Amino acid sequence: MNPLNINPLKTQDTHPMEIPNSQACKVSVPISEQGEHCLYANFCLPAGLFWQLADRVLQGHRLTSDEAATILHCADENLPELVAAAHRIRHQFFGRRVQLNVLINAKSGYCPEDCSYCSQSRISRAEINKYDLLDDEHILAGAELAHDRQAKTYCIVLSGRKPRERDLKALERIVPEIRQRWGLQICISAGFLSPSEAKRLKDCGVNRVNHNLNTSERFYPQICTTHLYEDRLATLRAVREAGLELCSGGIIGMGESPEDVATLALTLAEFQPEAVPINFLIPIPGTPLEADWNLNPRYCLKVLCLFRFALPRTELRIAAGRELHLRSLQPLGLWVANSIFVGDYLTTKGQAPEADYQMLQDLGLEPEIDGSTVPGHDTA
Ligand code: SF4
Repeated sequence: MNPLNINPLKTQDTHPMEIPNSQACKVSVPISEQGEHCLYANFCLPAGLFWQLADRVLQGHRLTSDEAATILHCADENLPELVAAAHRIRHQFFGRRVQLNVLINAKSGYCPEDCSYCSQSRISRAEINKYDLLDDEHILAGAELAHDRQAKTYCIVLSGRKPRERDLKALERIVPEIRQRWGLQICISAGFLSPSEAKRLKDCGVNRVNHNLNTSERFYPQICTTHLYEDRLATLRAVREAGLELCSGGIIGMGESPEDVATLALTLAEFQPEAVPINFLIPIPGTPLEADWNLNPRYCLKVLCLFRFALPRTELRIAAGRELHLRSLQPLGLWVANSIFVGDYLTTKGQAPEADYQMLQDLGLEPEIDGSTVPGHDTA
C-alpha cells in the first residue's frame, strides 16, 4: 500500500464549541488553533485499497505497522472510502448494534501520579470536585441510572495509583448487589492491580477491568514519570490471568505522532481486549496539556478506522472528547466504532443522552443489552 502522492494537510476548521465541566472548569476550543494538524503529511491513494484491506482483515489478516501508518496518513479525499471499508468490518461483526456504557467517577482526585492529561493528578490545578470513595447509595443510584439509560455496562472508576483494601472490600459488597438488581455488566477501573487483586474482582462478579495503555511505550515518558509503561502492561496481564474481560485503550492528541498511535493499536491487538475506548484529549485548564489542541475531526475519524482495522472484533468505543473533536462527524464515527458512553465523563460533561439516542435513531442503530437489542427501541 504505497502512497502515490504526498500532500501537506491543511485544515480550516473554525467551529467554536464549549464543553462546560459539571464540576466547575470550562473547556473552550481556541478558535484560531483548534483543528490544525499540520504536522502530518497526507497520502493520496488509488481507489479500492482500503476496501481490499478490509477484505483481507475479514479473512483474518492482522494489520501491519505500514498499513496502520497508511490509514492514519491517508488524504482526506480517501476518507469516505476508508470509512466505508471500516464500516464493512464493523457491520460484519456488530451489525446495527451499539453498546452503551455509563460511567461513574466513584473516587475523584487526590491521585499521587503525574499523568499530564489527567485533571485528578497531583500536578493538576484543574478545578474539579475531589472526594473519597462514594458511599454505596450513590454507586447504586448510578447503576440504576445506567439501567434506565439502556446501558449494557456500568463503569465504576476510582482515581489513584491502585485500589486500597477498603476500596476492594466496598466493591466486593456493591458489585454482587448491582448484578443481582439490574443485571448490568460491571467494569472496574481502579489503577494497577496485582494478580490476587484482579482475582478478587473476578470472584465478586466483576466482568471487566479497564486499564488504558494510553499511548505507545516510546511516548509514555512524555506524559507520565511516576510509573512505567511496563507497570501498565503488568496489570493487563494480571487481568487476563484472572479470567476477566479486558478494556484498554488510548488517548489521542497529547502530542504523540501518528506512528505512536499506530504502535498503540498494534500493541493492544496483541492483547485482543474485549473493549478499546478511544479518548480524544480534552485539554482541561489547569492540566499540563491544557494548550494541546492538536486534533481535527477527520484525523479523529482516521484514528477510529485504524483501531477498527486492527481490532475488527473488539468493542470499539468512542470515549471522552467525541463531542469536542469529532463534532459534526460523530455519526460517521459510529459507522466505524460500536460503543459510546452515554452521559458525562470523569470530570467533564458529555452531550445530553437525548442527543445520543437521537443520533442512534437517525443512524438506524440499536442499543444492545446482553447480546440482544433493546426491546421496543424505535429505529424507524
Ligand atoms: S493514575 Fe489515573 S487518576 Fe491518577 S493521574 Fe493517572 S490517570 Fe489520573
